[in-house]
Order: sequence, then C-alpha cells, then structure tokens
Amino acid sequence: MCYYNKEVLITKTLFCVDRQIDTEVKLNKIKKEVLFNMSYIQDSLKKIKQRNSSDPEFIQAVEEVFESLKPVIEKHPEYVEANILERIAEPERQIIFRVPWVDDDRKIQVNRGFRVQFNGSIGPYKGGLRFHPSVYIGIVKFLGFEQIFKNSLSGLPIGGGKGGSDFNPKGKSDAEVMRFCQSFMIELQRHIGPDVDVPAGDIGVGGREIGFLYGQYRRVRGAFENSVLTGKGLTYGGSLVRTEATGYGLIYFVEEMLKHNKLDIKDKVCVISGSGNVAIYATEKAQELGAKVIAVSDSSGYIHDPDGIKVETLQKLKEVERKRISEYVKYHPNATFTEGWKNIWNIKCDIALPCATENDIGIEEAKILVANGVIVIGEGANMPTTNEAIKYLLDNKVLLAPAKAANAGGVSASALEMSQNSIRYSWTFEKIDSKLKNIMINIHTNAAKASEEYGFGYNIVAGANIAGFKKVADAMIEQGIY
Ligand code: NDP
Repeated sequence: MCYYNKEVLITKTLFCVDRQIDTEVKLNKIKKEVLFNMSYIQDSLKKIKQRNSSDPEFIQAVEEVFESLKPVIEKHPEYVEANILERIAEPERQIIFRVPWVDDDRKIQVNRGFRVQFNGSIGPYKGGLRFHPSVYIGIVKFLGFEQIFKNSLSGLPIGGGKGGSDFNPKGKSDAEVMRFCQSFMIELQRHIGPDVDVPAGDIGVGGREIGFLYGQYRRVRGAFENSVLTGKGLTYGGSLVRTEATGYGLIYFVEEMLKHNKLDIKDKVCVISGSGNVAIYATEKAQELGAKVIAVSDSSGYIHDPDGIKVETLQKLKEVERKRISEYVKYHPNATFTEGWKNIWNIKCDIALPCATENDIGIEEAKILVANGVIVIGEGANMPTTNEAIKYLLDNKVLLAPAKAANAGGVSASALEMSQNSIRYSWTFEKIDSKLKNIMINIHTNAAKASEEYGFGYNIVAGANIAGFKKVADAMIEQGIY
C-alpha cells in the first residue's frame, strides 16, 4: 500500500495530464488513498476504545484530540505508515502500587498509588500527582495523555506523565498526610529521577505534600537531587512564580485570545470554578489586569461576591486554614453562598474559567453560558468541558482556550524550576514571570498558526492539538519503532 499527501497528489495528477494518461482512473485511486488515511483514524480509535473500555475519561480525551487530527493525517501519510495514533495513545509504562500507612488512631490504611509514564520522546516524563478519592487508572491515563501535548506546546524539553492516589487529604492531620506521602514515595522513588520522571502537584497535592515527598526521596536516595520534583518550597530549590504560574498563565493566555480578537480583559466580568491553587492565582491576575471576578466555588457550592472576590480571604481560608468556601461570607457580608458547585455557571459573565476538575461544563452549562453572552472560556482545569459542550461553544463562536494550551503555565514554570536546579541558581520573580508570559504568547501564536494551516480558521482547540501532536509524532518517528 502506498500513501500520498496533497502536494504529491497534485504533482502526480499534473504529471498524468501531461502524459495524457487516463486521469480519471488515477484520481479515483488517489481518492481511495485519502479515504484510507481517514479510515485509519476510525480504525485506531476503535482499537483504542476496545483496549481501554473501562476508562471513559481517557477515551474522551483521545476522541477530542483525534477529532482535530483529520486534516493532519490526510496531509501526512507518514503518520499512518508509522501507526502513530495507536502508539501515542498507549502509555510507555503504567505503574500501580500499594500504599499502606497508619492513621492517627493507629489503624492501618491502604491506598492505591499510580504513575503513568506516557511519552518520553521529547524529554523526561513530567506531570503532576493528584490525591483525590476519584483517582483511578483511567483518570491518570487521561491526564497523562493530555500532558504529552501540553508539554510539547510549552516548547520545553519535557515528556508526558501523570500520577496520584485515591488517598483523600481532606480532613487528615498533617501527620497523617506526612505518613501517607512517605509511604507513597518509598515505592515511587524506584521509578523517578531528575532525568527520568519529574512529578509535581495537582489536585490535593500542594507545597505541604511536595515537601513530605521530597524529604522521603532524599532520605532513601541519600542525595540532594532536588530537580526530581517541582513545586518545592523556596528553601530547598523551589522556584519563584511556580505557585502562581498556572493561574497567571491562564490569564495571560485568555488576554492574548481577547487581544487577537481586538477585545480587552479590562472591566470584563469573570466567574471561576474552584478555589484551589489555579483558581486563586487566576483571580489575582485577572483582577490585577482590571477584570472583576465575582464568583468562585469548591465541591460544596459557590460564593457570589458582587463587590469582587477578595484574594487574601481566599488564600487564608483555602491555603492556610484549609476550610470550606462557605466560610467566605463570614468575612464579607455582601457575599452569598449557594450549594451545588455547577450552579456557578448560571451567573452571567463575560469570561468563564473552569479551574476545578474535569467535565465541569457539560452541554447544559454551555447552553446557559452562551445564552448569557459569554465571550471567552479559559480552561484552567484539565478537560473541564465535555466534547459535546466544546462543539456547541465553538459552533456558537465562543472563544475557547483549551486546557492543553491555557493551563500550560504550571508545567512551564516547573520546567524553569528544573533549569534553575540544574544550574544551582535562582532567577528573580520578574525574570520568571516574563518568561512565563512569553511562553503563553508563543503557545497562542503556534496554536493559531497550526489551526490556520490545517483549515480550521481561528480555532485554538484544534490548533493546540495539532501543534502539540506534530512535534511529538515527528520525534517518535525519528527515534524508530518503540
Ligand atoms: P486544588 O486541589 O488546589 O483545588 C481544586 C479545587 O477544585 C478545589 O476548590 C476543589 O474543591 C475543587 N474540586 C476538585 N475536585 C472537585 C470535584 N470533583 N467537584 C467539585 N469541585 C472539585 O487543585 P488545583 O487548583 O491545583 O487544580 C485544579 C485543576 O487545575 C485540576 O483540573 C488540575 O488538574 C488542573 N491543573 C493544575 C495545575 C497546577 O499547577 N496546580 C497545572 C495544570 C492544571 P474541594 O476543596 O471542595 O475539593
């Protein structure tokens, strides 16, 4: 079987006309070959679905990426020949392990730990650890798959990986969290290293957890290899801006999309789901740039503060005291608390930033947002919008900043943390913030260019998938079959 791309097809067709060969016969052959390349996507997807039938979130993530790749596959038969789709959707390695630990009542608890080393073709595996009761292998695989393309888009030399545990840090004492982290790392340390796999935080894993994890890694290895983890404290190799990076990066990206469409972030009304790391720093940066954030949430419900959310209160409640968002109203009597976290999307806004978890915006929420005139949706969380909702939003001309691009600021700052650890030096806040902003602008430019080149117009969802995919696919082909 042979495959042609469009340029080759045109050349061949002209050659046929020149030689007065029966062009109709030739063109039919060519059409069949293009159709063959298209059915390659369907066939690959079918096999991937069969192989991962118990992992719906993973299948959702794969379908979303493959949807954008149709013109890429049509133009590049080399991807078909290399069977790149099936290979890119199969992790290089999946590790599942037992994590026993002792709680404060001296009871022995057991959790499950995961690390999926998805794709190392452009750098060491890199991606966060999530501690949340909903974590199972399907969640880790979807996050790891997304991470491949996000890390590629960042322009930095990092491969894709992800991990975590079904451990729930909520309501646990610091001592319990420490014992869990130590047990988790005893096993994980066999599989990671500064040039192998570099985890970071995600839901339920912040500075406290990274500290406990690194302390245990150092004890077991007997070496100060601090670039094995990112998101560290500033006293032992952490980077300035890492804490703020995902939220700040998200706002830089949204601002760039608005600018591209001749709009300004200033005075726009903004609603943000979540009240963790990403949501807090997105709120801070949005307000710094003149937008007004009027609502944030946690899993119990949301608060609406018409005077604008006070970041200092959020930080105190969520980062220091680890309390519920409902407590916010005690400090700001004008604010109201409403149960049901998804109801936050009923609030009219110009900018919606889902920064909590996956599948936050389904078709119902998308319809409400469109009816209320939303201009832009920036995905701070990973896969917060269902595939059906993505289609609806794009059809209705909403500017959609996809997670792979819009929340890549976190992993980019992590890669900058690794660079500083390697040269044993720390850059200033201003220098890192400026690098972060440039990275976000470059991601936008590259995604917009790819979208245009492959016939999607200005569609950053498709453009991010294409630009992220092509770099990794080309690296895989150059490195042979593995
Ligand atoms: P945090 O743990 O700091 O905060 C998570 C927030 O989301 C909390 O307010 C939490 O509420 C809420 N939330 C979590 N799960 C659910 C759920 N199932 N239903 C409703 N609300 C929920 O996490 P981050 O801010 O770090 O992460 C948020 C999102 O951003 C995730 O999708 C993560 O993968 C993504 N992300 C994070 C990066 C980072 O650097 N931290 C980088 C790139 C992406 P509650 O406290 O009640 O559980």
